[in-house]
Order: sequence, then structure tokens, then C-alpha cells
Amino acid sequence: MKPRARKKPVSDHHEDTIVEMVDQSGQAVMVGDSLKAEEWLTRARQLDPVTCEIELARRAWANQSGNAEDIKRRRESVVARLGGVAVAQPDRIDTWKILADYLRQLGNHDGVLRATASGLKREPMSIELWVRRTRAQIELGQLDSASRSLRHCTKLAPTHDAVEALIRVHPMCGNCGALFDTAGAEFCKMCNSDGPGRGAAVRSVRARHSSKFDVYFPRVRDVIADALNMPDRIKKQLTLDTLLKRHLKRSNQQCSTVLRAMTKEFGAAFDEPLFNSAVVGFLDLLIADLIRAINPKTDSTIDTTIRRRALADHITRS
Ligand SMILES: [Zn+2]
Repeated sequence: MKPRARKKPVSDHHEDTIVEMVDQSGQAVMVGDSLKAEEWLTRARQLDPVTCEIELARRAWANQSGNAEDIKRRRESVVARLGGVAVAQPDRIDTWKILADYLRQLGNHDGVLRATASGLKREPMSIELWVRRTRAQIELGQLDSASRSLRHCTKLAPTHDAVEALIRVHPMCGNCGALFDTAGAEFCKMCNSDGPGRGAAVRSVRARHSSKFDVYFPRVRDVIADALNMPDRIKKQLTLDTLLKRHLKRSNQQCSTVLRAMTKEFGAAFDEPLFNSAVVGFLDLLIADLIRAINPKTDSTIDTTIRRRALADHITRS
């Protein structure tokens, strides 16, 4: 088996147990035992209040009883309550995510922008939130912001399904770089140039933003975070920019640790002269040197689509 990019497990917020407890509570309600029902909910809240609120919100949202007006009112109160939960515990990205989904379904795209902004303040790398934000910007016709967000998405997660879907449906204007709102748009809403619907050439967001640095970054970040025992919280805040542009002074020993970990991960894929001249001392310089030294031609440890793109970039640069 070839080593693949590491995926960290989704953090456990006792979801299964809480779903079970909320079920029990619902069954107690059905037989008229409200005391028991409250007891189950209390236990669920003690385990993890946020997960419990999210589960209750899901059920209230899915509840189709009553007329359209009832359903709408109920859903608005679900969103109001979830909003309170999110603000009280802003580090819980799962709340921001589901809140953004519900706001979108209510047609409140400004609300989606606010929710995703709050979530991204805590977790700037969350591709789930970036995708939701990009979609809201498209809905609101903010096509230049949307194109910036989508470019950011392609840097964070070039092979994410939702990112690929967005790229397919929304190509970029060849003139100004804004996103078209549909794949067959007649003209660009930002600069009025002809769109793909009139046969104009368009650009792909991805083609312009898949340098070797972008392609290898997620994997390099994981290797470095592991090698230096960075807590998840810190790792989530690492972006290509922070990793390469902040002068991260690290001890020589830490740099050597990173060097060893990267060698283990990429093995024979390094160009030797470049690898040997990597500067040990500043972590950011070392990382930049090491990524430059990776030769996608000899790197067989990465999946083929990514490899092909890295390779194309490698050839145009050398
Ligand atoms: Zn344009």
C-alpha cells in the first residue's frame, strides 16, 4: 500500500449516544411521561450540550406537521435557537455548518455569509464553511468575491467534491476573473464581456491555482504538524501563507525533525541538489525549499489527478 494523505478522524462529540438519548426522550413523550423525557434530555445535555441542541434542531427542522406557515415559523425558531448556540460556543464548527445550511434553505444568504464568517474566524481552513460561503456569494450575485473564495477553496482542498462541482458549474470570466453565475452564462455580470453562452473562452479557477505549493500543501502541513506535535487547534490555523511567510523561528533540532519527517513522507521524490541545499534554521524557509525540491515526476506517493497537475506546474516552471 502506498501512503496516502493522512485524514484526521472527526472529533467525537458523543453523537450516537446523544441521538439514542433524544430518541428515548421522544418515546417517553409519546407515552405521556414528560418527567422521563426531560430526564433523558438532561442526560444528553450533560454529555455534550451543543450536539444535543444540533440533534433537537435537526428533528424540529425535519418535522413536517402543520401547514406551510407552521413549518416556516418552526424553522425560523430553529435557526434563531441554533444561532444562539453557535454564538455561545463559537469554536463548534458543526453548529456554524448546519446553521449555514438552514439559512440557505430559508433563502437568507446574507445570514449564510455572517455564519460562515464567524465560523471561519475560528477555523480558517474549514473547506465545508468556505464552500457554503462561496455558494452564498454566488446566490447574492457577488461574483468577484465568489471567485476569490473559490480560488481559496481550490488552494485548501483541490480535490474536494463540492469544490469540483462549483468549478464545473461556475467557470471564470476570461476578462475580469469573476465567476459566471451559470456554466452557460451569456455575459459577465461584472464586466459585461461575452460569456460561455456566446462562445467566449473561459478560465478554470483551478488551472490558475494549482502550483506545486498549493498541491502539496495539505500533505506537507499534516506531516509537519505531526512531526512537531502541534495541537489540532494550531494545525487548523496553518495556511500556506502562514506556513511560508511568517518567520517561524524553530530550533535546529525541530527543523531536523521536520526534515526527517518530510524525507520519510516523500522519500525518493526529492531532487537531490535542491534537497541538499535546503536551509535549516527557519522553518518557513525550510518548508519552502523542501516543497520546491519535490519532483512530481518521481513522486509516486500521490494520487494521479493531483500528480498530473503538480507535474504540469513543474514543467511550466522548469
Ligand atoms: Zn468579467
